[in-house]
Amino acid sequence: MIPPPMSERNPTPADVREFDSALDTSPQDLERLLERVGRRLAAFVAEIGAQPAQAADQHDSSAAWVREALPERPAPLDDVLDLLFGQVVPAAFNTASPGYLAYIPGGGLVSAAAAELIAAVVNRYTGLWISAPGPVDLEANAVRWLVELMGMPASALGVLTSGASLSTLIAMVAAREKIVGDGVSRATVYVSRETHHIVQKAARVAGVPAANVRTVGVDASYRLRVDELEDAVADDRLRGLLPFFVCGSAGTVNTGAIDPLDDIADFASRDGLWFHVDGAYGAAFRLVPELAGVLRGMERCDSLAMDPHKGLFLAYGTGALLVRDPADLRRAYAATGSYLPAMRDSGAGIDYCEHTPELSRDWRGLRLWLPLKLHGAGAFRDALRDKRRLALEVYAAIAAEPDVEIAAPPELSLFAFRQRVAGDGHDGHGGDTAAQNRHNRELLARVNAPRRIMLTGTEIDGVFWLRCCVLHLRTRDERIAEAIALLRAELAAGRR
Ligand SMILES: *Cc1c(COP(=O)(O)O)cnc(C)c1O
Repeated sequence: MIPPPMSERNPTPADVREFDSALDTSPQDLERLLERVGRRLAAFVAEIGAQPAQAADQHDSSAAWVREALPERPAPLDDVLDLLFGQVVPAAFNTASPGYLAYIPGGGLVSAAAAELIAAVVNRYTGLWISAPGPVDLEANAVRWLVELMGMPASALGVLTSGASLSTLIAMVAAREKIVGDGVSRATVYVSRETHHIVQKAARVAGVPAANVRTVGVDASYRLRVDELEDAVADDRLRGLLPFFVCGSAGTVNTGAIDPLDDIADFASRDGLWFHVDGAYGAAFRLVPELAGVLRGMERCDSLAMDPHKGLFLAYGTGALLVRDPADLRRAYAATGSYLPAMRDSGAGIDYCEHTPELSRDWRGLRLWLPLKLHGAGAFRDALRDKRRLALEVYAAIAAEPDVEIAAPPELSLFAFRQRVAGDGHDGHGGDTAAQNRHNRELLARVNAPRRIMLTGTEIDGVFWLRCCVLHLRTRDERIAEAIALLRAELAAGRR
């Protein structure tokens, strides 16, 4: 039973005073609150496998809570939890579901959620080392684990961000300050046709003219063509422009392609460009020793954006930027005020506010540290290895179908595919691109319709592809077997 909106109910004594104290929660209140929230969360996790893979389309935008007046009185916790778990949380892509194979799956690691709770309750101020040397040193230690895992030099520095978008922007501004100075109107940035749009966005925010973002071509496996990159940079130099930033992808969103990172690193260092790697999806796979080879060259970057909220299974909101030379960040972000203590720019102790645009920040390092500490790196390595194994299973099953075209075999745990429709293009459902695209969009809709899995699609050069990305911590053999059966059945239906 869904309770009526709070504003329509008569307040009961419990509405007015559910807890012993008001804002300043007593220890007893805290325990009661966490116990009841904990029960709901445990129930949520217990039934996650039975929940639909997505229910965003069932959201009722006219529900009273969508535009409820600011409540003046307290509401009973159980009513609020009923509303959240009954109506609000389900109206979404089920990004906590084992069937979530869409986009790049995130995580929702419960140990990281516990860390988030601890960080918020103790509420330490981690923008400045001096205000929380213990928490900041613990965070810095966890970020050094990332530096080490990514194979970057021990002198590199990491900062945790909200995600790869912010990591990329922070890196690009650092590169601009280092290489471009006040010549930003001539500054040029290099991406491939398959690079994530966040790099274009970062360029815009960093003041790089839109006309100065060069999109170079890709090879048959959707990897950046270094020869085209070299030509584009040479051309721009001749025209008096200032090339400064090239982005290589360690796993693109469309097809999972890994750019020739070693070759880009060679060229960038020869030519004085800042080499940034977008490892939002793929970088975490470097934990798996047998995959380090496909990511070779990544560790030579000037900056690497990785997303613990993808490949390390954390909840959304934790990205990481690793920068080879910490001085590059300080050049761009160091600033101080007379009301602040003196910054420490070297030696022990990091002032995070000198390395990113933020001053106040949450203690986000705890949600990286606690899971690594509690589960051990081995658990992450095993999970990543397993996601790749499962992706290869889907790939092998789908690639064996006679009329399926695969964009490129999965280098990590993601691949794009489509069903080719027989015909000459003149019979109404034949070989022309529009008909092929329509056919594959319908295939995607049919595969998603039972809500057991959620795939998404993409368009490359006007051609529509379905994508499958296995990266969710809860995706295991049973759901993959179900996904394969579903795909086979709908591919067969597409032939009739
Ligand atoms: C997810 C993703 C991004 C965007 O990262 P956010 O964390 O959403 O800002 C960029 N590049 C790639 C390859 C991604 O997978």
